[in-house]
Amino acid sequence: MATRTAARRGKANGAGPEPTPAERLLAALGPTGDRYFEDANLGDFGLPARVDTETFLEPHAKAGPASRLGPLEKVHAFWFAGMSCDGCSVAVTGAQAPSLEDLLLGAHPGLPRVVLHHPVINLESGPHYLRPHELALKGELDAPYVIILEGSNTDETHPIETGGYWAGVGEEPWGPDGQMRTVTTDEWIARLAPGAAASLAIGTCATWGGIPSAAGNPTGAMSLMDFLGKDYRSALGVPVVNVPGCPPIGDNFNETVAAILYFLQGFGPLPEFDDLGRPAWLFGETVHRHCVRGAYYEEGNYAEEFGDPECLVEIGCWGPVVNCNITSRGAINYHGGCMNSGGACIGCTMPGFPDKFTPFHKRPPGSAVSTAASRVLGSLITPLRRYSNEHLDREVRWDLHGEVPSGWASEKTEPGFIRGYGHKFYDRLRRSGDGGKSNAETWGKQTEWTQERDPARELELPGGPESTTTGTTGPRET
Ligand code: SF4
Ligand code: SF4
Repeated sequence: MATRTAARRGKANGAGPEPTPAERLLAALGPTGDRYFEDANLGDFGLPARVDTETFLEPHAKAGPASRLGPLEKVHAFWFAGMSCDGCSVAVTGAQAPSLEDLLLGAHPGLPRVVLHHPVINLESGPHYLRPHELALKGELDAPYVIILEGSNTDETHPIETGGYWAGVGEEPWGPDGQMRTVTTDEWIARLAPGAAASLAIGTCATWGGIPSAAGNPTGAMSLMDFLGKDYRSALGVPVVNVPGCPPIGDNFNETVAAILYFLQGFGPLPEFDDLGRPAWLFGETVHRHCVRGAYYEEGNYAEEFGDPECLVEIGCWGPVVNCNITSRGAINYHGGCMNSGGACIGCTMPGFPDKFTPFHKRPPGSAVSTAASRVLGSLITPLRRYSNEHLDREVRWDLHGEVPSGWASEKTEPGFIRGYGHKFYDRLRRSGDGGKSNAETWGKQTEWTQERDPARELELPGGPESTTTGTTGPRET
C-alpha cells in the first residue's frame, strides 16, 4: 500500500516513475558479479540419488528431438515459494487435464516437456538444485525458461538491513566478499523475470496478495504484479499471467501452462487473458451461473444452516459476484468443489480476498434485495412448476387408463378434476402453433372436453379389452 501511495504521489508531483519493489530490492542488493558455484566444488552434497530430476526423467520422456512437432523440445520452469502454505503445489500435483506427470514427460503431442525445478519435488538439493538457476541468470541455460510463483512476494528491503529475510531459496556466494548468503525468493524473481519467456502467478497470494497481504500484515506482502510493476513484460512481451484461487484448481493452472506452451510451440495464438491477466475462458463466469444450487436461488429457497441442500446465500455465499469456475470444473477432475460439498463461496479467487469478504459466512449485504425478489417470484413459479411436473411425471397411457400401474402408486395421488383439466390446458399450450397436430389428442387424465367421445376409437386403446393397434389412442373413461 505504501508503495502504491508513493507511486501516486510521484506521478502527482510530475516526478519520474517510482521504482518497482523489484527494482528497489536489486538496487539495495547490488550485482552478483560473476560469483557462482564452481563445477569442481559441487560434489555429492544435495545429490543423494546421484542423479538430478531432469537426467532421471529424460529416458522416459516422450518429447525428444526425433518426436517433437515444434521448435521446442523442452522448457525449464522455475517454481518459487513466497509467503505460501504450499497448497498451490498440492493442487498442481493433483491436476488431471493435463497432469503434472504428462507435462514432465512431454506426453501431449506437440508440447515440449517441462523441466520443473521445484524445491519439494526435485531429487536434487543444495548447489545442484541451484545450478540451473545460475545458468539461467548467466544466459547459459539449454532451453527457454518460465518462472512460477506461489505465495506472495514480500518487502525484503527491511529485513536485509538487519541480516534477515522473509522467504528464501538456497544460498549463493553473492555476499560482498563472495561469502554465502541466503537468496530470497524476491531476489531470484527480480533477477530471473526479465529473461523469462513468461512469468506466472499461481494462487491468490501470488496473483493478488491474498491472506499474507491482509490488513495488518508485517511483511509488506504483495502480488507478483505489484512486485514487478505495471510495465513488466517477459522476454516474449507477455505481462504477468494470473491463475488465482486459494488453493487454485490445479487443472486451471496446468491447462493455462499447456495453452502457453502451445503458443510458444507455434501451434496456437496466445490464449485470451482478461484485464487482470486471468485466463479469460476460465474466469469469465461467476460461481453462481454454474452452481448446482442455482435453481434453489431462483425459486427463493435458502439454506438456514450448513448441511441443508438449498442455496447458501443467506449463510454467507458470495457466489453471485465472484469469478471462479469451480462449479463447472470441480476441485479435482470434475469432482468436489465448494457448493457441491456443502461450502459457501468466500471469494477466494478475488483480488479483494480476504479483507473484503470478512467476516466469513455472514450474509453478503447486497443479497437481501435479490433474495427478496426471488422469494416473490419463487412463490409464483414454484407451484406452477409443481403443477407441470405432476403432468409430465405420468405416461400418456396412464392418463388414458386413469391409473398408474405401479405397486408404489398407492403413494401417488391421482390428479383430481381441476388438476386433470389443468394438465390438458397445459398440453394445449404446448402444442399451440403446431399446425400438424391441431386435431390431435390432448394428454391429461380427464376426458377430452372439446371432442365428442368416439366409442370406436376407445376400443383401439392399447391394452384395452379389444385392442388391436398400438399407434392410435383415444380417451377412456376412468
Ligand atoms: S450457493 Fe452460492 S453460488 Fe450457489 S446458488 Fe446459492 S448464492 Fe449462488
Ligand atoms: S467457489 Fe468461492 S470459495 Fe470456492 S474456490 Fe471458488 S472463489 Fe474460492
